[in-house]
Amino acid sequence: MEAASASRVSALVLDWYRRNARVFPWRMGPEETRVGLRQDPYLVWLSEIMLQQTTTAHAEPYFQRFRSRWPTVHALGRASWEDVSSAWAGLGYYSRARNLAACARIVSEVGGFPEDFHALRDLPGIGPYTAAAIAAIAFGRRVAPVDGNIERVVSRLAAIGGEPDGPGLRLVRRRVESAAQSLFDNLEEGAPSGDLAQGLMDLGARICSPRRPACSVCPVAAECVAQAQGRPEAYPVKAPRSLRPNRYGAAFVPVRPDGAVFVVRRPPKGLLGGMTMPLTTPWGDAPFFELPEGAPAAAWRRMGEVSHVFTHFALSLQVWRADVGQGDVLVEEGRWVPQEEAIVMLPSLGRKILRNALSADASPKARGSL
Ligand code: SF4
Repeated sequence: MEAASASRVSALVLDWYRRNARVFPWRMGPEETRVGLRQDPYLVWLSEIMLQQTTTAHAEPYFQRFRSRWPTVHALGRASWEDVSSAWAGLGYYSRARNLAACARIVSEVGGFPEDFHALRDLPGIGPYTAAAIAAIAFGRRVAPVDGNIERVVSRLAAIGGEPDGPGLRLVRRRVESAAQSLFDNLEEGAPSGDLAQGLMDLGARICSPRRPACSVCPVAAECVAQAQGRPEAYPVKAPRSLRPNRYGAAFVPVRPDGAVFVVRRPPKGLLGGMTMPLTTPWGDAPFFELPEGAPAAAWRRMGEVSHVFTHFALSLQVWRADVGQGDVLVEEGRWVPQEEAIVMLPSLGRKILRNALSADASPKARGSL
């Protein structure tokens, strides 16, 4: 983007942001940043990790709980994995929770978050976007964090198009990053780059929406090439959607006479690694059935099926339940827990399985027995 235009856009976005900033519990308002206050890097980092692939509305109560339970990165660094993973349950993508715990330990050991983009990037679970967001918002560094909102705004401002095949998309992405960076490079001396980052994010969320952007009230409309072309929705260029493959498996929930259910700790690596879950088979490309190791030979009843969508595939699991004796011993790494406790500690897939296994109204058609 040409420097004079980038400078005008940055100033217009900052001005708009001062009057229209969204309010979030992890955010410091523009009035405070204007007098030189900086946002706590711990809160910026925590919110950015939580907001990866989930909405602000969903992340907000988790953020509040984490902040009140672990008010500093040092407190989180001392927390046990059991506590962190059960507080994370429901946010999905458990590799993020593992990285969160590992990152908190490292940052606590070295006395705090580094300010430099590259040093931030070296921490577990922090990619280029998150490193740039922390560097800009918490430390005032002039680096552009390009999330989906900023990508959309900048692509439209500079009408950055191209071929949506593999190499073409990488080139388009580099041009968008370069245009976004030019907004930060041409920011007025002393202006808060964190406010520019958050202003661009808010502009994308509130005005420059994916469909039907509100160009008539947009503060940067006079600088926007896509708007002048009359086709803002042609940007950004998107990769063709690839279909998610299906995977299949089965889950087994033994239930004791006192109502306790049996759960296991999954292996540390892989999907849901280290998380507490009901017993499941491995997940394969076609429907199949086998009792997993540790499931007792019992009168198993099929209760139904649950579905769950991961980033790269959609999973369907048959759910089986058996009422077993009080003294039955299962696999060593598992344990019996009261149902109410299990519901809190399990990730969302585990909760779906448990609710299905314990439901009295599973569809009779879906039921069967072994
Ligand atoms: S003028 Fe329209 S397309 Fe351009 S940035 Fe503003 S809302 Fe987006």
